[in-house]
Parts: sequence; C-alpha cells; structure tokens
Amino acid sequence: MSQARHILKSTFGYDNFRHHQTDIIESIIHGQDVLTLMPTGGGKSICYQLPALIRPGTAIVVSPLIALMQDQVDALQQLGIKAAFLNSTLKAVEQRLIEKGFLAGSYDLLYLAPERLLNEYTLSIIDRCEISLFAIDEAHCVAQWGHDFRKEYQQLSMLHECYPNVPRIALTATADQRTRNEIIEQLALQQAHVFINSFDRPNIHYAINDLGNGRDALWQFIEHNHPEDAGIVYCLSRKSVEATAEWLNKKGRTALPYHAGLPQDFRQKNQQRFLRDDGLIIVATIAFGMGIDKPDVRFVAHMNLPKNIESYYQETGRAGRDGLPSNAWMNYGLKDVINLRLFTQNSDADELFKRMMLQKTDAMLGLCELTSCRRQAVLNYFGETLDEPCGNCDNCINPPETWDATIATQKILSCIYRTDERFGTQYIIDILLGKDDERIKANSHDQLTTFNIGHEHSGPEWRGIFRQLVAHGFLATDTEGYGVLKLTPKAWPLLKRSETPQTVMLRKLKKASKEKKKRVSTATRRTNQHLSTHDQDLFEQLRQLRSELAKDQNVPPYVIFPDKTLVEMAMNKPSNEEQMLAISGIGAVKFKRYGESFLTELKQHQ
Ligand code: ADP
Ligand code: ZN
Repeated sequence: MSQARHILKSTFGYDNFRHHQTDIIESIIHGQDVLTLMPTGGGKSICYQLPALIRPGTAIVVSPLIALMQDQVDALQQLGIKAAFLNSTLKAVEQRLIEKGFLAGSYDLLYLAPERLLNEYTLSIIDRCEISLFAIDEAHCVAQWGHDFRKEYQQLSMLHECYPNVPRIALTATADQRTRNEIIEQLALQQAHVFINSFDRPNIHYAINDLGNGRDALWQFIEHNHPEDAGIVYCLSRKSVEATAEWLNKKGRTALPYHAGLPQDFRQKNQQRFLRDDGLIIVATIAFGMGIDKPDVRFVAHMNLPKNIESYYQETGRAGRDGLPSNAWMNYGLKDVINLRLFTQNSDADELFKRMMLQKTDAMLGLCELTSCRRQAVLNYFGETLDEPCGNCDNCINPPETWDATIATQKILSCIYRTDERFGTQYIIDILLGKDDERIKANSHDQLTTFNIGHEHSGPEWRGIFRQLVAHGFLATDTEGYGVLKLTPKAWPLLKRSETPQTVMLRKLKKASKEKKKRVSTATRRTNQHLSTHDQDLFEQLRQLRSELAKDQNVPPYVIFPDKTLVEMAMNKPSNEEQMLAISGIGAVKFKRYGESFLTELKQHQ
C-alpha cells in the first residue's frame, strides 16, 4: 500500500485516500474481487486506475458509455498514464494500431464497451495478453430491476469463468438493495468484498419551490447564484426545452437545447460544447445526462416534477461531482402534480407495477410538500439514516411555516361536492371567490352556500392549497385528463364534520416577490465562497488560462485541472515547484506540463 500511496501523490496529486478507497485498492492488488457502491463524485475511478498501475499487465475497463471513453482516456494521458480505448468511433487503422499496442503490453488501461469485449476476436487477443484486472463500470446495467438494463452486461459473467485468476471490480452509483443483489448474482460476485458508501452528496444544496411563474423564478435563481457557472435545466417537453433555451439566450446566457427530437449531430455538438466550454447552460429533456461526467456542473434546475425520487436523485446528482458546493433547484405547481398522478393512473402496466408506481409518485410528492429536512427524507427513502437535519437544504435553512388549513380544505371539498365533482380547479376557485361569471350563473352555482366564501385567500393561494390537497391525496383528478376534481375516500371524514375531528396542516406559500432574493442569497453557496474579491479575479484568470490550454489540445478544461485545484491555487498562490506540488490535484506529470504556465500567471498577480 505504500506504493499505492506514493502513486496517489505523485501521479494523481492527492494526499489521502477517501472513504473505502484504501481497502478497495488493497483487495484488488491482492487479487480479490470487489463490488463497490459509491455516490457520483465519490472517487470510483481511482479504485481501479491505481491497481492497474501496480499489478502487472493491462486493466480492461468495461463501460457502456462509448461517448465518454475519449475524455476518460484523455484525462489519464494528461496524468502520464498509458491508456487507450477501442470502440466503433475509431477508424479501422486506429483500431489495428491499438490492438497492436495492447498485444505488445503498452497500455496500463484499455477501455471497451461490453459488446466489443465479448466478441470472439477481442477475446482471442485478450487470451494472448496479460490482464491485471477487469473493471466493470456502471455495473447496475446488469440488473433488470435497475433503470438502465443492458443485455450484453449479463454475459459478462463469462469473465469469471474464463479468467478465474483475474480480479474483477464492479462499480456503480446505484443505491438500492435489489439492484445490488442482482449485480452480485449476475456477475457471480458472491465471493467479492463489498464496499458500500453513504449516498449522501453533502455538497449539493437541495431546494424545492412553488414559485408560480417558473421561468422568472429560474432566472432569479440563476442570476443570483450562478451568473457564470455551468448548469443543466431540465424541462418536460421538447417545445419547452427550445423555448427556455431561447429565453435564456435573450437574457444574456449561452444556453444550448438538447432533446431526442433534434438531429443527432446537432445534439452531439451541443453536448460536446457543454463539456468543453466553461459556463454554458444546457436546457434538456431527461434524454440528456446519462454518463455526463462533467465534474463542474454547478447547478441542476428542474422546471417540472421528476417522476420519482430515483430520477430526482439521479438527475440532481449530476451537479457537483467535483465536491464543490452546488445547487439542486426545482420549481413545480398544481399542473405538475395533476399530470404526475394522471401519468401513473393511466399507465397500462399491470396492477402490481402500477401500485409500485403510485407509491413512488406519492413519495416524490411527499418530498415536495415536506416541511422537514429534504436530505434526511431522500436518504431515508434509499434506506439510509442521517441522524441530524443537514443544514444544507431549503427546509433546514429556511424552515417553512405551516398553518391549520382545515377550514379552507372543508370549503374546497364542500364546493366540489356541491358541484357534483364535475369541474376543475379554476372554476371552483371562481366560486369560492364569488366571481361574476356567466357559466357560474348559468349553472346556478352563485346560489351555493360555498359561493363567495373564500376571500381570506387570493387566487394563487387557493391554487397552492389545491396542489397540496392533490399531493396529499385528498383530491384526485379524472383519468381523462380534463382536470376535473374528485373527492377521494380520504376526503370524506373532513366533509362530514360529525366524524372524529381532523386537522389539515399545510405549508405556507412562499412569496414569489423580492423577498425571495434575500432567501436565495442566504442559501447561496458559490463555488468560490472562500475566495476574496481579489482571489476571485485570480481564479477567473487561471480559469481563462486553463481554457486556452484545453482548446489547444482539444480536451475538456477539467481534464487539465479541476476547479478545486484552481481555487486552491488562487487561495495559496504557490510561487515555486514545491508549493505547486503541495496543491491537491497536481502530480509530477501535470506539473511538468502546466506548472510553469500557471506559475507565470500567478506571478503576474502578486
Ligand atoms: P465517480 O466516478 O465516483 O463519480 P471520480 O472517480 O470521477 O468519481 O472522482 C471524482 C473526483 O474526485 C475526481 O476529480 C477525482 O480525481 C477526485 N478524487 C478521487 N479520489 C480522490 C482522493 N483520494 N482525494 C482527492 N480527490 C479525489
Ligand atoms: Zn436539510
């Protein structure tokens, strides 16, 4: 392990191992199989990259993400590590060259897609080479229960049969027990050492809002928290993706659209630009993101409700892989709640599956309407306990107020009952507010006892109450999608006042006004929060230099140095080689390549 520690410092530039890295690396070096579950950004790659440098032979890394292999290999080459990949994006001559290099034992690591690995030709080459280990990345792809099943992955069990003496390490960031068991079974990892990390992402700040106009709220959030940062904005439809991107561009940000309806090469180009340029926003449907390995995504914004907590956690998890403070921000409204419920009700899945989906919907809505710590709730959902409230989510920083909404609820329920459960939200609100309306008059609904009895709340406030009642299951909508409100069994006890008294506590609406500015900025956690104004300028200069160096070599900037390294440089202002090497993320090879350029830049700022 002393050799491993030495390489950690000299090659990767890090002083200490994180989490279970020590034990994982030790097991692999000694030839044992390993299954490791670590959240995104936890530091999985080093777990196989480092043993690959210590064990004799070439490490085969299996990954389904062909588009990422180039960047992964670029990053390794920047560290002075001999690595290559083989996939269909390469020309035939390039492939031959790499095969030759592989046969000659020139690589420490070789990246392959599973179908490439499994073809007979590749296997015949592998048979002739010394293999140090097999790393199976994104191992959850082997699980049918998981969200990203790939058939080829199941055949990877042959590795165990054909190469029993080569250690295997399976890695994933997927949490649940069932997927975990399936991985063990499918890949024959019964003998493997299993290392499970907490799934908490402490650097991500969670906020879920109900701020009315989504776009304005989004802009306020971006402007105040991330005026220059890279981020992802998720929208539900292709149309809203395009409209939102255009709108952000008008606001002065560079925002690129991404959805499955755009031409492949245009999509590809936008994704590439997002990875390679600093500070771009990508506006996308959930088609975007699988395998996006950009470490400095500073925010993920949801303009609608994700389908379930699994999706929410996966999508927000794309923020802050580098461990620096990042924001997961979401805004939603009544329509989202209705649509989500409808989507589940109308799915033509079998009953059992539908019941499961309904439970997941309930959990997601529960998370939105929650008044206590969001992180505790999410981790609890994944079977993990966080003892104390996190202090880094909206509810912790700004505890929501609740109020006794029993009377308001009864007014709504009674109004729906008296109008025979035939109308939608707006109509019911109009009755409660006593609106002078032809349709209401024609139906004689201005004669109801519930007409004009709701002036203690404004229209938007009533909408917020409706949303929460649907979310909490007091109201349902018709399955045809007309938005007609129905009473649920849960509503009846409230309607019949004779029953055991019951109170309904709801969240107070947040005001979508200037007050919000204050609220957002207290929650703000900028990447560079530790930097003074002067150091912030320096950081920007260093970022600029990094960007130029990256463009020259056509690699993403973070492959040269992560933001964290630049922040540390701006703070500590190293002025010689020794001080430079003390900065996290700078090893010998990186220093040799870039040390002088950065030292020169730093000198100019003294
Ligand atoms: P994952 O694959 O788990 O999402 P990565 O392997 O990409 O995460 O690691 C995330 C970041 O953390 C990378 O920038 C990596 O270099 C860094 N990292 C990994 N291990 C350490 C460590 N022991 N000390 C400091 N940084 C580390
Ligand atoms: Zn919290």
